[in-house]
Amino acid sequence: MSKSKPFPAIHGGCYCGSTRYRLETAPLFCHACHCQDCNKQTGSVFACFTTIETDFISSIGATPPKIVTTPQPAGFPRHEASCGKCGTRLWTSGDRAPVTVDITTGTLDLPEIMAPDLHSFIESKVSWIILPEGTKTCKGQFDYKEHWPRSSLKRLDAAFQRAKARQQAAKAAISAQDSEEEKEADKTPTAQTPDEKDAVVEDDEEFERRFRETEIALQQRLEKLTLRLNENEKVQGDDLRPETTTAIGGSGMRRTSYIV
Ligand SMILES: [Zn+2]
Ligand SMILES: [Zn+2]
Repeated sequence: MSKSKPFPAIHGGCYCGSTRYRLETAPLFCHACHCQDCNKQTGSVFACFTTIETDFISSIGATPPKIVTTPQPAGFPRHEASCGKCGTRLWTSGDRAPVTVDITTGTLDLPEIMAPDLHSFIESKVSWIILPEGTKTCKGQFDYKEHWPRSSLKRLDAAFQRAKARQQAAKAAISAQDSEEEKEADKTPTAQTPDEKDAVVEDDEEFERRFRETEIALQQRLEKLTLRLNENEKVQGDDLRPETTTAIGGSGMRRTSYIV
């Protein structure tokens, strides 16, 4: 992978600061979930997630995240990363495991730019959280094929291809090792080493493309944030009525105005 220039930094970490991470690309999708499972797991009344390819999240803190793997009745096992010291939940692999992770948006250093693109399980949202007009919502779980941008679906497909290529390389390495052992011949590895298997093989052109895409995606999120803040300021400026107040929603939520 080219390291010719620093990648746009998106950092996050746990409450105590010993577990830190960095995103190497822009999110595929951001969503809020109002289901009861998320409420119980987070101890909040809704959860916010920032989804990214597993390949593009790096641990950079003093303490690597603690990974707990739980087998699921159907589908892939679930991996949950948390801080081994303070217990902050950092990310979990979801239905698309192991190629994507859902980062808990509140652990990002700048969650403000990762406003949810969609609110799911809207039917179980608590009534005292008021979403801004025009917020995209859906009942129950959302279908990512329907809601993710086309560029994210292309990135997901590329992530599956990389995972498949790594699996094939691992199989080739095992069979090469077996035949070498049988022959008791030259031990020079003919396939990728374990380190290489885990790395994303990316030439300069691909790095440049990912760099540009990330810059554009973050720029768009920043522009949306600026618009929201400007709208909010306008509401505050125009609104001199005493019965109106302005509140800020939870992690990653938009600023919301409501009448009390
Ligand atoms: Zn911690
Ligand atoms: Zn949920």
